Amino acid sequence: MLTLKISEIAQKLQEGKLSALELCKMSLKRADIIKSLNAFVKLLENNAVTDAKNVDLHLSKNTYGGMMQGITVAVKDNFCMDGVETTCSSKMLSDFVPSYNATIVQRLQDAGAVIIGKTNMDEFAMGSGTVDSIHGPTKNVWGSEIPYVLKKGNVTLKHLCSREADNIIAGGSSGGSAVAVASGVCFGALGSDTGGSTRNPASYCGVVGLKPTYGSVSRYGLIPLVNSMDVPGIIARSVEDTACIFNTVSGFDEKDSTTVEKDILPIVLRDDFNISGIRVGIPKEYHCYGLAEVVLNAWSHVADVLEEAGATVVQISMPHTSYSIACYSVLNQCEVSSNMARYDGLEFGYRALQQNSTEQLYADSRSNAFNDVVRGRILAGNYFLLQKNYEKYFVQALKVRRLIAEDFVKAWSSVDILLTPTTLTEPPLMKQFLQLDNRTQSATQDYCTQPANMAGCPAVSFPVCLSHNNLPISLQLIAPNFCEQTLLSVCQWLEKTVQFPCLHIED
Ligand code: GLN
Repeated sequence: MLTLKISEIAQKLQEGKLSALELCKMSLKRADIIKSLNAFVKLLENNAVTDAKNVDLHLSKNTYGGMMQGITVAVKDNFCMDGVETTCSSKMLSDFVPSYNATIVQRLQDAGAVIIGKTNMDEFAMGSGTVDSIHGPTKNVWGSEIPYVLKKGNVTLKHLCSREADNIIAGGSSGGSAVAVASGVCFGALGSDTGGSTRNPASYCGVVGLKPTYGSVSRYGLIPLVNSMDVPGIIARSVEDTACIFNTVSGFDEKDSTTVEKDILPIVLRDDFNISGIRVGIPKEYHCYGLAEVVLNAWSHVADVLEEAGATVVQISMPHTSYSIACYSVLNQCEVSSNMARYDGLEFGYRALQQNSTEQLYADSRSNAFNDVVRGRILAGNYFLLQKNYEKYFVQALKVRRLIAEDFVKAWSSVDILLTPTTLTEPPLMKQFLQLDNRTQSATQDYCTQPANMAGCPAVSFPVCLSHNNLPISLQLIAPNFCEQTLLSVCQWLEKTVQFPCLHIED
């Protein structure tokens, strides 16, 4: 049941072959099975059961419960939920209980979705592994001790389990959400994406991860990392489900002045989508140092598949790509240092036991409750923003950001969509990943993902094939702003064509 599509579940609920309560219990049971992966920081059993019963009430009275009725979803722990702890995986917010819902959470609930829990993440969404969390690291379900099988349709391909102590990272920073979806605990999950945090874990967990266009989905109630780049992200097992969730949550929100007022048309995915009219760009700068052969092969294979089907596939150049990561890092740290200023122990956040002076109270609260990564970014950001450095770093980075955005605008004059890798390698082993610090890891992990955030473009990661170690390899599609319709149509065409196996956990 948990591997069906949202539309199939809707039908089963309508026909009375399934109740929302049964579905909710299946999800909670599955969450318990994968407990050792540490995907959830909190399960919301009671709320979920109440919401599911409400959906069943609607169904019994034949009233419409919304397009997500009964569908179980998980929410990254940086989205505010009324009355529910929202920790951002940080000691700083360990006892923060918001009194309101993020708009995206509200829209899911209004559409009848059943939120089963909050998911683990890197502290304040800074990272690419979900290893830097006060709740401990999240493990990937792929290569984990949980027994699972891979299936194509009804055919079982492989029985897989434990690679002993070799845990695989979930990717980050929305690793908990990606693992929850990949394990079939729930149909969809919210991530957030500033430089790749939805696409990176989706890629490593073999699921679909969408970063919508900046301004198409409200950030109200998403605890900010980098306001000019943050977008709520959507993780699901299929492109169809991703589109369904996007249709539920997107659109203008008067509480977020950066959402656009124009109508965002619902995405309609057609079975007879014609790929032959599509012009696909392969930006040569994404063929970068460190790109593993297995990813390169997947990339050229998918480009060939598109060409054979009649799409026009051309190599293009986006000359500022290699500057993007340094530029992202400067802008990220500047905005982080400004955003994090609110956590002073008085206005917001953890308060240290310090009564000597206000200054000392700020210092102790912040040094006790932020991890090294957050403190490092605040220090760097403040340095870049010093009056004597402002022009040299911040203003310079803004100029480079403009050039990167212009690379995209130029690309759209000759192609409809870009095909690139999402990550440079298969999902790394935890012990390998931890050998490098957060900053060095982010510089490699975000290479292909963060340019789209600099330009605001929608981008989606989708799984393509398995590596020799039977781990997922994914690619990324990027489209012009507000072209999610084309983005997801091409992605669904590829999803059908490449037939990536589905991961099943036996209950
Ligand atoms: N790795 C990126 C960073 O640490 C990803 C951030 C994100 O998308 N939330 O900045």
